[in-house]
Amino acid sequence: MQVYGLTGGIGSGKSTVAAMLEEYGIPVVSADELSRMVVAPGSVGLADVVQAFGAEVLDDRGELDRKKIGRVVFASPERRKELEAILHPRIRERYEQVLDALEKAGHPVMVYEVPLLFEKKLEQQDEMAGVILVTASADTRIARVKARDALTTEDVLARMRAQMPEEEKRRRANYIIHNEGHLDDLRVEVEHLISRYLRLPPNRSFGAAPSEP
Ligand code: ATP
Repeated sequence: MQVYGLTGGIGSGKSTVAAMLEEYGIPVVSADELSRMVVAPGSVGLADVVQAFGAEVLDDRGELDRKKIGRVVFASPERRKELEAILHPRIRERYEQVLDALEKAGHPVMVYEVPLLFEKKLEQQDEMAGVILVTASADTRIARVKARDALTTEDVLARMRAQMPEEEKRRRANYIIHNEGHLDDLRVEVEHLISRYLRLPPNRSFGAAPSEP
């Protein structure tokens, strides 16, 4: 099975591309989702996090409070490493399980969506057939994120500055989707990606485009 990475900076449109790929029957696995699964309520992963970081990283319902633990690891690289040592092997294990299940189900390709794929130096990257980058100008990304979340321009810029510069990402990517236009344009880009880049066996077309409304 071929695994392709899917990445892009804040507000670039990765999740939108992921949703479109799924509409065409291409399975997309999200690293964020896997990382939430490994600390789900009642999981061994969550118990290990609580043992290392204390019950103060939980919310009222006993679930991991991402903002609270985010503040702890933001302030300390050592604590971040400690958290990653708990999470990463478990995420990797889940990833392998999902990959295995998709392979058994006969899927020839799978897309792994990882927001910080280049920044994290992900070990799975070596096993990937290629990395797809979704990109758009800073102004467009800021406008989209502000329309989606209650954030100021300064908040979005701060998040952007914490990520690898776009030019560097473009140099590292194997396939680039420019998401500067309308959603219809993006859909065309996604169709090109599927037909020209994802190496689906000839007998596996990606199906008809969803019907017009
Ligand atoms: P993040 O990393 O911040 O979660 P992302 O890269 O996954 O972002 P999306 O959530 O897919 O980005 O897109 C950001 C916002 O912009 C969403 O509200 C999405 O609906 C919207 N959006 C994405 N692409 C377009 C487009 N071409 N035209 C209009 N809106 C778009």
